[in-house]
Amino acid sequence: MLHRSEPLGEAHAAVSDRWGGVSTGPHAELNLADHVGDDPQHVAENRGRLASVLGLAPGSVAFMTQVHGCEVAVVDGPPTPGRPLPQADALVTRAQGVALAVLVADCVPVLLAGPSPAGPVVAAAHAGRRGVALGVVAATVETMAVLGARPDRVSALVGPAVCAQCYEVPAAMAQEFLASVPSARATSRTGTPALDLPAAVTAQLHTAGVGDVAVDPTCTAQDPSLYSHRRDAVTGRFAGVVWTAG
Ligand SMILES: [Zn+2]
Repeated sequence: MLHRSEPLGEAHAAVSDRWGGVSTGPHAELNLADHVGDDPQHVAENRGRLASVLGLAPGSVAFMTQVHGCEVAVVDGPPTPGRPLPQADALVTRAQGVALAVLVADCVPVLLAGPSPAGPVVAAAHAGRRGVALGVVAATVETMAVLGARPDRVSALVGPAVCAQCYEVPAAMAQEFLASVPSARATSRTGTPALDLPAAVTAQLHTAGVGDVAVDPTCTAQDPSLYSHRRDAVTGRFAGVVWTAG
């Protein structure tokens, strides 16, 4: 059920794995995404189980419609059933009683928390190749700052993602990407051009002023307990979740 779960600054962060749910076939078992062809009732059951294990109220977890962009949505409370999800790649809140979730299967889940004069500010960002190039990490930290969190007091967890050795890309794509994100330079296991997204995200966090950065070393493509789009194509999504405990 849980890949990890721990305090993050004055908040709490957790990352799910693929076990302990009711999904079957390529989505087995704890798929949390409703856009990957899984049975919606299974996804709903899985989301309920995760909330329960994390000690969160049913329906208190906010998801977003992720589009590989750099839009950041500010959330002011638990999601309203039936209302469309924000189309964004990062969620930020200062509200209590709501947890923020990012869904991934190789992209980098980034969970952040920092104090503000009005209470903790938390954020969850989806940083894939395009989001990293577009600056979703910096945009997220900027929005946290707007809500009163000083970047130098923000703590970040860079969650499990595809590692550089497993993330071979065409040479032209690498060249174009590295022109704007040189910190992603890497070589694959077979010596071909590759991108190191966790390293790029870490560098972008530091550039944004975040000093306290923990990086999960697990590679999604190599760990069968996590979903990997690169490994399995049709698959589920696990989640990074962050909330203000209290
Ligand atoms: Zn790997």
